Amino acid sequence: MDTIKERIVREIAEIVSADRILSDENELKQYSVDRFRKYPDVFGVYTQPLPAALVKVQNVDEVSQLLAYCNENKVNVIPRTGGSSIEGGLETVVPNTVVIDGSTMNKIIKIDTYNMQVTAECGVVLETLENKLREMGYTTGHSPQSKPLTQMGGLVATRSTGQFSTLYGGIEDMVVGLEAVFPNGNVCRIKNVPRRAAGPDIRQIIIGNEGALCYITEVTVKIFKYMPENNRFYSWLLDDMRTGFEILREVMASGYKPSFTRLYDFEDGAYYFQHFCESKPVLIFMVEGPKGVAEATGMAIEEIVSKYHTYKEVDRKLIEEWYSKLNWNASKVDEERAEIKATKNVGFTTEISANWSDICDIYEVCVRRIKAEIPDITLMGGHSSHSYINGTNVYFMYYYDVVDCAPEEEIHKYHNPINKIIVEETLKHGGSMCHHHGVGKHRTQWVKEEYGTSYYMLKALKDTFDPNGIMNAGTIFPVEK
Ligand SMILES: Cc1cc2nc3c(=O)[nH]c(=O)nc-3n(C[C@H](O)[C@H](O)[C@H](O)COP(=O)(O)OP(=O)(O)OC[C@H]3O[C@@H](n4cnc5c(N)ncnc54)[C@H](O)[C@@H]3O)c2cc1C
Repeated sequence: MDTIKERIVREIAEIVSADRILSDENELKQYSVDRFRKYPDVFGVYTQPLPAALVKVQNVDEVSQLLAYCNENKVNVIPRTGGSSIEGGLETVVPNTVVIDGSTMNKIIKIDTYNMQVTAECGVVLETLENKLREMGYTTGHSPQSKPLTQMGGLVATRSTGQFSTLYGGIEDMVVGLEAVFPNGNVCRIKNVPRRAAGPDIRQIIIGNEGALCYITEVTVKIFKYMPENNRFYSWLLDDMRTGFEILREVMASGYKPSFTRLYDFEDGAYYFQHFCESKPVLIFMVEGPKGVAEATGMAIEEIVSKYHTYKEVDRKLIEEWYSKLNWNASKVDEERAEIKATKNVGFTTEISANWSDICDIYEVCVRRIKAEIPDITLMGGHSSHSYINGTNVYFMYYYDVVDCAPEEEIHKYHNPINKIIVEETLKHGGSMCHHHGVGKHRTQWVKEEYGTSYYMLKALKDTFDPNGIMNAGTIFPVEK
């Protein structure tokens, strides 16, 4: 008699040709985790239930038939594209999951420079799309540090944001229209119009769903003119982080839109800026866009900063050099793995947001508590990288030596306790526990607190669109015991 896995593999082979179904247990191990478990992954330790199969899909009909099959047979599904997830969104928590891999749906469908929008399948790598657009004098304006790894479906599903978000916005500001498939196989297209007031904005139900409501197959995003010749950096060393948050606030509250805003504390910045930062926080802005706008924005930033006490101005060339090496690629991933293996030292991030009145307090209390309460910390710091008129984010960065524990225990001894401090302090101060990586599987226990009375609406979406609970169990919504 067939095992459950054998039955699933046999039945999905009636939908997708067998050469696009991966069912080898050894190969499937890496698809039971994402970068949240990069430490045990490096040591070849996999404790999550293995998927039944990974299926490479080629079109929306296959996605629709697969979802309908899984829904009917109550088989858990994990949507996947670039695989750069870092919050456990790709981690399997139930046995015999089917991973639907959309990276093979990788056609750029239409670049429409008249209506300033581009339509791409979910598996198009952002860097591929961006390079193509730049050759033509355009840009998506979207530039997460993981740009060479991420794909359009995952970028929308995680509600991602990029390094130039202060000017262009997050992905939620860029998406014009979408195609998505729901668990019952229903294919929904949301048309591409500049704006409409015909009821609620249903794009926002799909953006950020982390594969827990539906499968995104196609995305249309805005494009902008690309004018790198007008880019200019500004940077200062500061005496303290509070001054940096005040400057960021004044720039944003005055209505200016630099594309890039960063405020690094010394600990986080030291890795890049040790050669010039003199143990001080580093404040960085980049301006871009049409020449007159970029120049006016740069002048206003200089004028605002001149009202504050700064330690010293930084040579722009140093910042340009740093910026040119910022993005990740596959070789950096390999280097990181080798380093973790050799040193048993590992680093992670947790990103939160809050209003201007609270952000510095959250930053200070989290850094203080983590240094005091968590053992074996080798680096604890953070930076602000995405600013808004009413507040900003903090991206906490922490490294620790893994001491006296098995690889699979690392998340319990270090990573989860650190997350707990950051999330609990942020929620206590009225902030949001997730700025741009998504909830994944390890912050779900606080989702009800994050949403408060509006959890009613979130839960209703899950109950309505995924009544059998087959979509990415344990992501966003905690698994009910
Ligand atoms: C070095 C590094 C730097 C990073 N920098 C940034 C950054 O600057 N900004 C930022 O926002 N993020 C960043 N990230 C996080 C990550 O790159 C983003 O979350 C990204 O959007 C994930 O896209 P992906 O294609 O890799 O998705 P995946 O990793 O494949 O999936 C991510 C999540 O989305 C779901 N999903 C994937 N595809 C679909 C689909 N087609 N339909 C429905 N659900 C789907 C998955 O189930 C999972 O929950 C970084 C990650 C790394 C490793």
